[in-house]
Amino acid sequence: MSQSVLMEVGALIQSAGQVMHEPAYLLIRDGIIAEVGRGRYAGPREGLTIYRRPQALAMPGLVNAHGHAAMTLLRGVGDDLPLMTWLEERMFPNEAKLTEDAIYWGTLLACWEMIQSGTTCFTDMYFMMHSAARAVEESGLRAVLSWGMVGMDATSYQQGIRNSRAFIGQWNGRANGRITTTLGPHAPYTCPPDHLAMVAELSAELDVPIQIHLSETKVEVDNSLRDYGRSPIAHAAACGLFERPVLAAHCVHVSTEDIDLLLQHDVRVAHNPQSNLKLGSGVAPVVAMKQAGLTVGLGTDGAASNNNLDMFEEMRLAATLHKGVLQDATAIPAATAFAMATEDSARSVFLPSGHGTLTAGAKADITLLDLNSTHFQPTFDLLSNVVYAAGADDVTDVFVDGQPLLLHREPVTLDTERIRYEVRAIQEKLLR
Ligand SMILES: [Zn+2]
Repeated sequence: MSQSVLMEVGALIQSAGQVMHEPAYLLIRDGIIAEVGRGRYAGPREGLTIYRRPQALAMPGLVNAHGHAAMTLLRGVGDDLPLMTWLEERMFPNEAKLTEDAIYWGTLLACWEMIQSGTTCFTDMYFMMHSAARAVEESGLRAVLSWGMVGMDATSYQQGIRNSRAFIGQWNGRANGRITTTLGPHAPYTCPPDHLAMVAELSAELDVPIQIHLSETKVEVDNSLRDYGRSPIAHAAACGLFERPVLAAHCVHVSTEDIDLLLQHDVRVAHNPQSNLKLGSGVAPVVAMKQAGLTVGLGTDGAASNNNLDMFEEMRLAATLHKGVLQDATAIPAATAFAMATEDSARSVFLPSGHGTLTAGAKADITLLDLNSTHFQPTFDLLSNVVYAAGADDVTDVFVDGQPLLLHREPVTLDTERIRYEVRAIQEKLLR
């Protein structure tokens, strides 16, 4: 199906380095940006689907580099607890009650929240992923999905390998290519060394990347040193994981040697500042990692440890947190935080080059913000307003592959009343 779309807007951010403070247009053909220009489009308009938004700012859709979508169902279950207590006493027992149906509705709830807050692509590591993939397909979002594998005994991790293999076989490249897949061993403390080695082999066989949690807490690092005589990052490398493309979530407690190892293998990092703060895990040394040359994307993590999926919050937090920690107001400037939430996140989740920008040849994944909102009065610097002033409330329209998912703040693809109803029913079952 060939479709051409013309979008005319009041201002446009192509990328952190290319900002148009004046009216501009985007011409989209078959979901790909064909042309970007200043002023009005001068070519013929016949046959074009036209979105005229003179009061809108167009920017690349936000890319959420780490999360567990259906954990929206556990929002507010077990706040104010450290990671291990939270995981073992609140998350695992409730997750054991989640059915395929629950995962489907929980993922749709996450999709709704992400669409409304300007996110066009997200990463997911959870279970019963066929249900999550169905939700992604219907929502119109782009996603990088993995079947999370947990299990210290051979039976459970062989089951995880089987689940992953079947899931990847069925879903990789589906939904017009909007769904891609990775392997998702949860962490070195929940997957033994021979399991990690098996994951590395399967990743090569199926030609998919790997995502994993690494060095999230100090306890995790201490236990790894005690059990294996090396850090979780050195351990993952020794198990062969880094021979494959890897996205490592967190990397909060990392040494210089760890950073060197990540760099040597071009391991991508997902920084989740809010989740790390809320679980009392600490603050990842993002400035040092970026200075070393690592690709660092931004993520929300699951809604049970955040407790929302708002990438504007993560972007602002990334831009302010490191200034405070380092007592350096020049750390992570607005443009850097913006790049982290868009093109760096896209690179970190292995999307093709150009993704996360509004440049010719890139996928037309676009978020529009309301330039009439208070947050854009006045506008000296669009990037500054987006990162330090604007928020999810300013998002009016969202497009993926040039297709609308949100128009004038109304979801196009989702039945939000039904989602609310089903999520309430699931909550009642969890309470029983
Ligand atoms: Zn996580």
